[in-house]
Amino acid sequence: MSLPFAAPTDVLIVGAGPAGLHAAFYVGLRGLSVRLIDAHSEVGGQLSALYPDKLVYDLPGSPSARAADIVAALKAQLAPFGPDYRLNELAQTLTETADGWTVTTDCGAYPAHAVIVAAGMGALLPREVRLGDQHPDVRTGLAEPSTFEGRAVLIVGGVPQAVQAALDLTAADARVTLTHRRALFRGSPAQLAQLETLRQSGHLNIQAPTEVEQLDETGAWLRTGVDLRHVAADSVYVANGHLPDLSALQRWPLGWQGEYIPVDAAQMTRLPGVFVAGDVSLSGGDFKLLSVGLAQAALAANHAAHHVNPALKARPGHSSDRRLPQPGE
Ligand SMILES: Cc1cc2nc3c(=O)[nH]c(=O)nc-3n(C[C@H](O)[C@H](O)[C@H](O)COP(=O)(O)OP(=O)(O)OC[C@H]3O[C@@H](n4cnc5c(N)ncnc54)[C@H](O)[C@@H]3O)c2cc1C
Repeated sequence: MSLPFAAPTDVLIVGAGPAGLHAAFYVGLRGLSVRLIDAHSEVGGQLSALYPDKLVYDLPGSPSARAADIVAALKAQLAPFGPDYRLNELAQTLTETADGWTVTTDCGAYPAHAVIVAAGMGALLPREVRLGDQHPDVRTGLAEPSTFEGRAVLIVGGVPQAVQAALDLTAADARVTLTHRRALFRGSPAQLAQLETLRQSGHLNIQAPTEVEQLDETGAWLRTGVDLRHVAADSVYVANGHLPDLSALQRWPLGWQGEYIPVDAAQMTRLPGVFVAGDVSLSGGDFKLLSVGLAQAALAANHAAHHVNPALKARPGHSSDRRLPQPGE
C-alpha cells in the first residue's frame, strides 16, 4: 500500500525535542514553512519523556526551570509560525527527490526542500510491557481521557506520566487504581499534592509499594507484602518509561560515527540539504546539553533557510531589531 504524500514544506525536522523545536522556531522566523515529526506522543524529547518533573539549572538566563516548563516555553515561542506537528510517527526512510528530500514514516511521506535531523539519543519509544497477554486492553499510551469515563483503569508505574494519567483519568470520572513497585511517585510538587488529595478523599486508589503479580481477563492480581488482591480493570496503562532507538535513522547514509552524525561548520551532513542539531550531532562531542543543542539548532535552521532560498542570508540578523506579534496580540 502506498503512503499518503503530505503537502511539501520548506523544512522538515525529524525530532521535536528542544533542538528540533528551536530549529523550527528559526525556520519560522525566516518566513519558511516547517513540519516536525516525532515518534513520541508529545513534543519535548528527553525533557518530556524522561524528566519533565526535574529542575534544570544551566539553561542560559534561567536560574532554575522545570523541564516540562522549558518545553512549554519552546513550544509557545514557535506557535506563531504554525508548525505542522506529526507525533507518534517514526521516521524511517530518507529519499532524494528533484528538489529536496522525502522522509517516510509508518503513516505518510513528507517532502521538503531541506531536512534537519534533531533525533537526540533516538526515537523515544515506550519500554516493552512484560505482563503476559491475558488482558484484552494493555496499552503503553493513553487516548483522550474522556473516553475512559465510567471505566475501571489500572495504571502501572511511578514516572510523571503515570501520575499525570492518574490525575487526568480521575478528573474524567474513570475509576482509577495507580500502582507502583516503589513507595514513591515522581512528579512536580503540584502533581504530587493533587495525587495525595485524591488519595485521601478516596477518589483514587493508590497501591504502592506493590508488585503486579499477574494480569487476567478482568484485571490484575496485585501483591503488597503477603497480601494478594484482585483489582478489576477494563484497561491497563503501563507507564514504564521510554528507551531511545536510533536504528531506523542509522540506516540513512549520513556517515554515522557511532551514535553521532558528522557535520560541517553549517551543521550540514555529507548530504546536501540535510542538517543536524542536538545530541545526535558529532560537533557537540559528548556534550549532551541543552545549551549546546540549541546553538546547533540556530546554525542548522538558518543554514537550511539559506539552502532552501539562497536569497535569504544564512545569518538571521538580530531578533531584537524586529517586532514580532506577542501572545494575545
Ligand atoms: C535525566 C536527564 C537530565 C538532564 N538534565 C539536563 C540538564 O540539567 N541540563 C542540560 O543542559 N541537559 C540535560 N539533559 C540533556 C538534555 O535533555 C539533552 O541534551 C536534550 O534533550 C537533547 O535535545 P535533542 O533535541 O537533541 O534530543 P532529544 O531531547 O532526545 O529529542 C529527540 C527527539 O527525536 C525523536 N526521534 C528520534 N528518532 C526519531 C525517529 N526516527 N522518528 C521520529 N522521531 C524521532 C525522539 O522521539 C525525541 O523526541 C538531561 C538529560 C537527561 C536524560
